[in-house]
Amino acid sequence: MVTHDESTCPDCGGVLKYYDSVPRIVRTKRRSTSWIKVRRLRCIKCGHLHRELPDDIFPYKQYEAEIIRGVIEGLITCETIGYEDYPCEMTMIRWISQKVQLPL
Ligand SMILES: [Zn+2]
Repeated sequence: MVTHDESTCPDCGGVLKYYDSVPRIVRTKRRSTSWIKVRRLRCIKCGHLHRELPDDIFPYKQYEAEIIRGVIEGLITCETIGYEDYPCEMTMIRWISQKVQLPL
């Protein structure tokens, strides 16, 4: 996956060209979901496909920035009503351990 800022392949550094758009589900608060369109880019060098992520989602994260912040700040745990199914505990632990990377 790549962000808007990157137009080069993370694998080989080749140039990425627009390939197609795919729907992607984004899970938000209170178990609601919404669908967004994600552009896929194809590397002209190695042929790998990379997804371009919208700006309001952290790279490689499936959840809203607000939820990630809540987890890191300890406001959301596995027992928090409305968040029981997600994020899973391992995901939360990973976020907490990566806390320095988030723009708080
Ligand atoms: Zn490549």
